[in-house]
Amino acid sequence: MDTEQFDLIVVGAGSGGVRASRIAAQRGLKVAVTEHSRVGGTCVIRGCVPKKLLMYASQFHDQWLDARGFGWALGELPRHDWPALVAAVGAEVTRLEKIYHGLLAGVGVTLLEGHATLQARDRVRVGDRVLVAPRILLATGAQPAPLAIPGADLAITSDDCFSLPRLPQRLLVVGGGFIALEFAGIFKRLGSDVVLAHRGDRPLRGFDEDVRRHLAEELTAGGLDARWGWQPRSIALRPDGRRRVTLASAAGTVEEDFDAVLMATGRTPATAGLGLADIGVALGAAGEIVVDERSRSSVPGIWAVGDCTNRMNLTPVAIREGHAVAHGLTDGPDLPIDYLTVPQAVFSQPPVAAVGHTEASARAAFAAVDIYRATFKPMRATISGRAERALMKLIVRRDTQQVVGAHMVGNDAPEILQGLAIAVNAGLTKAQFDATVGIHPTAAEEFVTMRTPVAG
Ligand code: NDP
Repeated sequence: MDTEQFDLIVVGAGSGGVRASRIAAQRGLKVAVTEHSRVGGTCVIRGCVPKKLLMYASQFHDQWLDARGFGWALGELPRHDWPALVAAVGAEVTRLEKIYHGLLAGVGVTLLEGHATLQARDRVRVGDRVLVAPRILLATGAQPAPLAIPGADLAITSDDCFSLPRLPQRLLVVGGGFIALEFAGIFKRLGSDVVLAHRGDRPLRGFDEDVRRHLAEELTAGGLDARWGWQPRSIALRPDGRRRVTLASAAGTVEEDFDAVLMATGRTPATAGLGLADIGVALGAAGEIVVDERSRSSVPGIWAVGDCTNRMNLTPVAIREGHAVAHGLTDGPDLPIDYLTVPQAVFSQPPVAAVGHTEASARAAFAAVDIYRATFKPMRATISGRAERALMKLIVRRDTQQVVGAHMVGNDAPEILQGLAIAVNAGLTKAQFDATVGIHPTAAEEFVTMRTPVAG
């Protein structure tokens, strides 16, 4: 079989793979990228982008409710047209996908659509084409990991949420992580009766404990039927097409019927079926490709970035990792990544955002810390009548007075924390925060007006 020679083969045209391909091609390498689904990957096709669009759609619900408090004489809430939303979101995703195709073509990257397998350390097969290159970059992402319980195939995953033919009237969301919280908020506000069942006693393991506690309270105050300490044991199909779920907790088991069950119980690196073990690429316990700080796998000439490495599974991180690899291959400047100061946001309702240390990790890392915390009713909620409280928290390393962590639960938290992340990344001190004049009236000004530590 004929082979085609490249300087770099990238497997996976998602966020990390596309960025690496483009940068490497711009810097003169002959690049091929392979994709077995749609160009754009999880973020663009079935993740961040369509999720955020669904979230915008769902936010009108609370805005209409709030509007009444501000004098708008609204009768019944308008009816939401789910198929119209699915069509609009699908069209936008297709538009973005075309842009991604154009970006690759524009810098001369060869796109091969089909499933890739590695046949040797320098050889990738896609359909009946065999590509050869001295460097291979794996950027294959991750896929949903539903619970292995009887009837699991009756559940849906986040991949399915963008093409459901109708809005589920009653929806069970399983999990207490990013995806569970985001979709619980979306479907609830679009009109589903949502039950969130999570095995833990609060959501978002790994986040600051005050954030987790506060968010759990806010979710319940917002009317979500959140059940902590519950776990599905089985799912069965009823004659009417609904799903009968057996849910278990320390208190016992119950059976409840739902129109759909969304498993949001984590994602697993998409590394199976690539032929990695055959050529000696080391995988970790979760199937992730083991890499060093320069994204080099255990096999010389093979790199990996993004969710398939299971480091920090966020789009901007995959992009940065892909960019860094492409620079490394082409004598570009080093692009070190400080994972600790990568800001994160969960688009739950209310949203959560954070950067840097949690209180627990700061106490473990430093001899002493000062904690600043504020909880308050946002101005808008005073008149809207909404039972809503925001939380803001700063963690300050006592010896240097640097702000090493910032956290927020409340509206606009992701927008506010993006700016604050620059300050935390730059190692600014609490005194420099205090010297910054607030913008009034905003929620964000609270971050520069917290004067007295609540704990040391
Ligand atoms: P998460 O790891 O965030 O959450 C998984 C949830 O499933 C946790 O609550 C976990 O509980 C629960 N779970 C895991 N195993 C079991 C089990 N055996 N039984 C019951 N519950 C279980 O994963 P997601 O799938 O929500 O998202 C995957 C990743 O994708 C995120 O971690 C994030 O990195 C990224 N992402 C980022 C987004 C953003 O930036 N806004 C949006 C969506 C995804 P426990 O905590 O007890 O382990």
